[in-house]
Amino acid sequence: HNQIANEAAWEVIREQGKAIDAVEAGVKIPEADPNDQSVGYGGRPDRDGNVTLDACIMDETGNAGSVCFLKNIKHTISVARKVMDETPHVLLAGQGAWEFALSNGFQTENLLTEKSKAEWKKWLEEAEYKPKINIELHDTIGMLALDDSQNRAGACTTSGLAYKLAGRVGDSPIIGAGLFVDNEVGAATSTGMGEAGLKSVGSFLV
Ligand code: ASP
Repeated sequence: HNQIANEAAWEVIREQGKAIDAVEAGVKIPEADPNDQSVGYGGRPDRDGNVTLDACIMDETGNAGSVCFLKNIKHTISVARKVMDETPHVLLAGQGAWEFALSNGFQTENLLTEKSKAEWKKWLEEAEYKPKINIELHDTIGMLALDDSQNRAGACTTSGLAYKLAGRVGDSPIIGAGLFVDNEVGAATSTGMGEAGLKSVGSFLV
């Protein structure tokens, strides 16, 4: 699915579009894909069975928008973009982010698919929780783009760690941790155990 995401972003770049529009278009692909169980619709829930989403976006001027602990809105990245473009803030959380999304025309929908629900129910039988840093069990999408005007942008969107505690937010919506763009230096984004990225302000550091 993430190859298709690259293609969607490339369409924008090829038409001399802006990097910020490319990354938004790109990461919307896995957000809508029920088979991607780490992002958007179809994402694995927290341990209470709620799919809670985090995302952020950043442009070449250092402008940024972000949402965290957002429920029932598929295209989290586009809500983050609205925060960036249309508010004086960077980060909206939870109920406030949801209400902001609704007031901007986003639809509320159930994001827990039967597949993710069945896996969660199975997990509940043992309810073992020992997340560890690894290279296998994560698939947040972070995307970076460079456009014809030599401008960089990035986007990062996720349903976070599966079966996390309710209210847990990882690195993905935090500017500097899950994503950072500096048009002179470069850009970085991350996936994996968000707690590690948060403690190191990983994307900024890289
Ligand atoms: N980085 C994400 C988080 O900690 C998870 C992931 O990449 O799978 O929320």
